[in-house]
This record gives sequence, structure tokens and C-alpha cells, in this order.
Amino acid sequence: MTTVTDIAAMAEAIRTGERRALARAITLVESGRADHRAQALALLDALGSGQQALRIGLSGTPGVGKSTFIESFGLMLTGMGKRVAVLAVDPSSARSGGSILGDKTRMDRLARDPHAFIRPSPSQTQLGGVARRTREAVTLCEAAGFDVVLIETVGVGQSETVVAQMADLFVLLLAPAGGDELQGVKRGIMEMADLILVNKADGDLKAQAMRTCADYAGALRLLRKRPQDPEGFPKALTISALETDGLDKAWDEMLALTAWRRDSGVWEATRKAQAGYWFEEEVRRGILDLVLADPQVAAALAKAKEAATTGHRPAALAAAEVIAVFGSRRLPNK
Ligand code: GDP
Repeated sequence: MTTVTDIAAMAEAIRTGERRALARAITLVESGRADHRAQALALLDALGSGQQALRIGLSGTPGVGKSTFIESFGLMLTGMGKRVAVLAVDPSSARSGGSILGDKTRMDRLARDPHAFIRPSPSQTQLGGVARRTREAVTLCEAAGFDVVLIETVGVGQSETVVAQMADLFVLLLAPAGGDELQGVKRGIMEMADLILVNKADGDLKAQAMRTCADYAGALRLLRKRPQDPEGFPKALTISALETDGLDKAWDEMLALTAWRRDSGVWEATRKAQAGYWFEEEVRRGILDLVLADPQVAAALAKAKEAATTGHRPAALAAAEVIAVFGSRRLPNK
């Protein structure tokens, strides 16, 4: 049984940068057990809002070089004296079809760096569950004094949206495209990007990478100007994660954008909006859990869903009927 003093001691150990304490705390926030959940919340409360790290969301399809980039970029940052944490949001569908994100063996030099901390994605089937856990892990890493938190993802849109809701910057990693066509990057994902990095700009691929980069720079100029951007952003650059080329420039651009957002108030406003978003998500989820804890409501829901999915009832009507069952259970006098 974890006591209040244990929680206080754990919070202190995290604050002093003990990696084992951080790893244990992340395990705690990832747990689905009710008693662990209570302890996790107590821990987050004990830690309060610490310093702010730069949270960088990173997305790219398998094979574009995410792990190579994280390793090179992470080592560059630790070489500058920064402490770097790497987390991942891995939708289960992508996991079954590809590599495990945030896997230490994919970036073993960084994993051995005392200034870095790498944590693979929690193995949850629901993206919502993964999102909540990762967001809390970000908070824990901030409390542990990390300067940069990289949040890696791969997906078809949904996981990017989740990561963008917990990141200060969103970086999209691409590979040089064959021909002059833009790779099938969803417009929505492109619209989220603050920085597009066309990787593998080396050797035979260099010229192709530069063409791809120019194509994307053109495409970005066609997007609607966003209030969170200074002149010139979002931007496309070429890099070579393998040859560690262009990574310093990419970092400078991230710093320039961050500085502008801090000065203009965009940073604070974004963090506030994100906190509001997660608050609403938690409330929605919590209320739903509470509702479904009533077996009669849960049974009515299963029945109504069946009716809606088989086309026997319009979805809205089936939903309204469940809500009515819930109302009659919760408010017997009304
Ligand atoms: P991930 O699946 O997105 O994590 O991609 P990886 O980092 O595992 O890289 C996929 C492949 O691309 C590997 O064979 C890497 O060696 C290669 N790769 C990654 N970055 C570069 C780069 O900058 N240049 C070149 N030429 N190859 C790279």
C-alpha cells in the first residue's frame, strides 16, 4: 500500500531527477487500477505545476527516419547540456503493423545517455487511454526538470491530433518523394505542422530531398495564415538525421518560433487552451465511466447500440433512449 509519505517521497525523488522514480511514476499513471489511479492523481497534485519544458510533437510514417532523427537530435541537445525525454503515442493499429515507438533499441545511444530518458508508448488499446497517460507522463517529465520532451507518433491523423494537443511545437518528418508529387500527407496533418523536415537529404537522395522540400514549402505558403505563426512559418527544411546535417538549423528555427510565441502570448494561450481541452476530455470520460458503472444503464446502452448499428433504430433515437434510462436511474424524483 502506497502511503501519503511515499507519494511525497516519490515527488521529491522525481524533482531531484531520479530516473527510477520517474519511471515508476509513469508506470503508476499508466496503470488502469483504481487504487493506482488515486495514487497517480495524488502524485500529480504533490508535484504541482513545475517548470515548463519545450514539448515537441514529432510525426512521420514508418521508415522516414524518426528514430534516427530522435537519436541524432536528442544527442545534439544533450551535447548542449539539455535534458531530453522521449515519449510516444502509439495507436494500437499502427503498433501491430510496425515498429514500437519510443523503443530504446531503436535509439540505443540516446537511451544510454544520462541526460536522456526514453519511454515507449503505453500498451493500451484505446487512443484516449494512451493520450491521457502520455499527457501525464509529459507533466512528470517537466516536474523532473527535462528541458525538452519529444513526443513521437505515427498515424493517419487521429494520433497526430492528440499529440498536437499536448505539444508546443509540431514537427512533421518526411522522406524525399519520388517524382514531383507531394506524398500522400493528409492536409489536416500538414496544417498541424510548424516545421516540416524532409529527411535523408544526403548522398543520392539530396537533390530529390531538396525538390520535395521546395514542393512542401510551396504547399505551406498556400495554407491559410494561422494566428500562432510569425512571418515565414510554418517552414520546410531539409535535414539528414543520419549525417546529423541541418539539425542545428532545425533547432534554431524551433527556438525562434518558441521565442516569438512566448513574446506574443501565443504560448500561454495555447497551453491554456490545451489544459481546457484535457479538462473537458477528463470530465467527459469520467462521467461516462460513472454512468456505465450502473449495470442497468450499461445493459441499456449495449442494447441501444446494437439497435443503432443494425439499423433498427436511428442512432440519435437509440442514444436518447439510453440517456432517458440513465436519467430515470439517477433522478428518481423527477
Ligand atoms: P522510423 O521508422 O521512422 O523510425 O525510421 P528509422 O529511423 O528506423 O529509419 C528508417 C531507415 O531510413 C533506416 O534504414 C535508416 O538508416 C534510414 N535513414 C534514417 N535517416 C536517414 C538519413 O538521414 N539519411 C539516409 N540516407 N537514410 C536515413
